[in-house]
Amino acid sequence: MKVTVVGGGIIGCATAYELAKAGCAVTLFERATPGAEASSAAAGMLAPLGDASGSPFERLAVASWQLYPAVVEELRSRTGVDVEYVTRGTIYPLFDAEDVRRAETRVAGREMREFGIEAWDTADVRVREPALATRVRGAMFVGADHWVNSQRLVVAYAQAAAAAGVILRAGTSVSRIIVEDGRTHGVVADGDRCEADAVLLAAGAWTAALAASFGARLRVEPARGQMLALTHVPPVLTHTVRTDDVYLVPRPSGELLIGATVERVGFQRTVTAEGISSLLAAAIGLVPSLGSLPIVRTWYGFRPWAPDGLPIMGPWPDIEGLWVATAHFRNGILLAPITAHLMTEWMVSGEPGVRVEEFAPQRFLSRDRSTF
Ligand SMILES: Cc1cc2nc3c(=O)[nH]c(=O)nc-3n(C[C@H](O)[C@H](O)[C@H](O)COP(=O)(O)OP(=O)(O)OC[C@H]3O[C@@H](n4cnc5c(N)ncnc54)[C@H](O)[C@@H]3O)c2cc1C
Repeated sequence: MKVTVVGGGIIGCATAYELAKAGCAVTLFERATPGAEASSAAAGMLAPLGDASGSPFERLAVASWQLYPAVVEELRSRTGVDVEYVTRGTIYPLFDAEDVRRAETRVAGREMREFGIEAWDTADVRVREPALATRVRGAMFVGADHWVNSQRLVVAYAQAAAAAGVILRAGTSVSRIIVEDGRTHGVVADGDRCEADAVLLAAGAWTAALAASFGARLRVEPARGQMLALTHVPPVLTHTVRTDDVYLVPRPSGELLIGATVERVGFQRTVTAEGISSLLAAAIGLVPSLGSLPIVRTWYGFRPWAPDGLPIMGPWPDIEGLWVATAHFRNGILLAPITAHLMTEWMVSGEPGVRVEEFAPQRFLSRDRSTF
């Protein structure tokens, strides 16, 4: 099967790679370079447990998280790229004695032990992450939370894809999806018609523009995230630390990432004084000694966001050969391996192999037939 993938972010590169391994002849179009947008902006946290325990989203996230050790090893053996996979876990600080007591009661469950969840009291916090502010009275610690360097990960997937036979057309923009007689016949890229049996839309926050090219309205929008990095040598923190306002991710390469805002401001390509200052205030409030560290860089990225915050994955209704995998919002790095596997299985065999009806494009179609 001849497949065209549009978009060379983590979702497009990972899926192109798996499709090539499954025997497809794949061409991937990326208008800039692989990982040029959200996928390189990401902090790379792999945190599979959400607020809605046992939800379809959490099941998908856990399934992807379980794939990670093998994916990291496979990419390393095929490309030599070290994606800085770190498995030290995340500290979720608690500021109130009552919250600490509640956390201690909650950790008794089987799932809690399975995912390496511990409740820490004040003394544990002082010993295990001494740089945290004294107002931190305890913590939930989630050992199952891991993290990767997302820039390296997307490069590793792109290199593995090319080595597996994917034709990578970087610097080539797709202007139109060709839809005729109820099926897709490929794309128009840099003015040329490129024929394919199947097309996968994986253009992140820009996927709506591709849908518009064949007259459909896809409800995917950008959610801007601003971040910054501090020089972190010698390291102040050994774990990721995460609250509702901010997260801190220590990278082995000597940077401490501080993120991230979530803003609906369209495609405004800038960081703002307010965005960066709010992140810094929250970070220094958690770890006072960060105040004296140098700022290395600031950046932003556009997360692909759908109105219910969930991914959109599956065959495009009523157009044969057209597929979509986008709207991974805050979890595209975590969800890349499972997305690549299930989309490949679905496109090649006709079945996704994992329960995904909650993420189907039809969920928007059923509310408003003209809009999805
Ligand atoms: C600040 C920030 C922090 C984040 N932190 C995390 C995290 O810790 N953990 C996590 O799991 N997720 C995180 N995310 C979310 C994650 O980055 C995204 O969900 C994921 O990168 C989306 O991948 P994608 O491939 O769909 O989109 P993108 O990476 O945006 O890729 C889309 C690609 O399509 C290309 N493209 C667009 N239009 C066209 C066209 N017409 N022709 C050709 N190419 C085109 C673009 O150039 C782009 O490279 C974060 C995101 C941000 C912004």
